[in-house]
Amino acid sequence: MDFRLSEDLELWRKTVREFTENEVAPHDEEMDRANDLPWDIIRKMSDAGIFSIPFSEEYGGSNMGSLAAAITIEELARGSASVALTLDAHWLATDPIYVFGTEEQKKKYLPDLVSGKKLAAFALTEPGAGSDAAGIVSTAVRDGDYWVLNGTKAWITNGGAAEVYLIAVKTDKTKGARGISTFIVEKGTPGFSIGKKEDKMGCRGSVTTELILDNCRLPATSMVGQEGEGFKIAMVALDFGRACVGAMGVGTAQSAMEKAARYANQRQAFGGPLAKIQAIQFKIADMVMGIEAARYLVYHAAWLRDQGKRYSKEAAMAKVFAADVAMRACREGIQIFGGNGYSRDYPLERYLRDAKLLEIGEGASEVLRMVIGTSTLKEFA
Ligand SMILES: Cc1cc2nc3c(=O)[nH]c(=O)nc-3n(C[C@H](O)[C@H](O)[C@H](O)COP(=O)(O)OP(=O)(O)OC[C@H]3O[C@@H](n4cnc5c(N)ncnc54)[C@H](O)[C@@H]3O)c2cc1C
Repeated sequence: MDFRLSEDLELWRKTVREFTENEVAPHDEEMDRANDLPWDIIRKMSDAGIFSIPFSEEYGGSNMGSLAAAITIEELARGSASVALTLDAHWLATDPIYVFGTEEQKKKYLPDLVSGKKLAAFALTEPGAGSDAAGIVSTAVRDGDYWVLNGTKAWITNGGAAEVYLIAVKTDKTKGARGISTFIVEKGTPGFSIGKKEDKMGCRGSVTTELILDNCRLPATSMVGQEGEGFKIAMVALDFGRACVGAMGVGTAQSAMEKAARYANQRQAFGGPLAKIQAIQFKIADMVMGIEAARYLVYHAAWLRDQGKRYSKEAAMAKVFAADVAMRACREGIQIFGGNGYSRDYPLERYLRDAKLLEIGEGASEVLRMVIGTSTLKEFA
């Protein structure tokens, strides 16, 4: 067992850290207030090769793997959870085309998605079905060489900003999860439109919208994978997504801890810095232990994926644990900042609003605890 990262990974971490410190972090507050996607940063990420990390060279990728992808998200989240979320959602939609797409689909879509020239979005959730994803009611009905899609998708990250949408709908309403299929829908396709933009609590530098399908007619070649394979495709994509959301938690918690520690060293109370008070030292200690444990869970899940092994349970554990760690670090970080922590003049309240998403999106913590619990109990049946 070797806990060291390779030189390539350490170098990549340094590259993304510098990029984040120079190009991302200074704009996080502004993004939060603007409630909009920072296109200039997205373009710079594309130029820096950040989008291309987990994909093979054949499609313009860097072929650096999932561990490098997790480190990328962690480092971006250290400067902005919003920017990290935009990339996470982009990969969530791009990866299924990469893994399940036909050669024709890969050649058509991957070069622009792998480079980050175009953004992608992954649409499973609906107004009436989130955790219970098999309960979606949007449909696709076959019409010769075409499919006609109808329905509404809710809470879609990169909605409106993306050019390419991976959308899961029911192709057979009688078959539950096995009746779901996945389609690629391009922005501008007749019958496909962007609905309401969400005015979110956090991660406001990422865009989230409804998507509307109104007799949207797609050629049969738009289907990704086989008919009825959509739920499986979504679950495979979400394993990777959950490891990445875990990485967002690590980056957010790290940033909260660093800011709280610097503040504690400067702020004076009772004749000395807060840092001299044991209660404050314990808070920092708990943050650091949580962050380190979460980081190893995330890296392990990503490493398993790179080894081609099953990692659904490990990805769920990484996400749930890192989300808890991030929420605690932000809450305790605010506590160390005292009244200043409660002010928008300081970043901690924004981090707390951002971190809350980690307990909800891509599998809420309650639902993932069910996944972890049932999977563990089966091992001892
Ligand atoms: C900012 C943001 C971005 C998002 N981006 C995307 C995206 O890009 N694509 C996409 O498809 N979706 C996206 N989502 C949707 C997200 O995945 C869902 O919100 C999430 O899966 C939860 O579904 P829900 O909101 O319908 O909550 P519900 O399923 O209604 O759950 C409500 C509460 O009940 C709990 N609960 C539900 N069932 C159980 C159970 N059996 N046992 C115990 N507790 C339970 C849940 O944990 C939750 O706390 C996004 C959401 C947000 C907030």
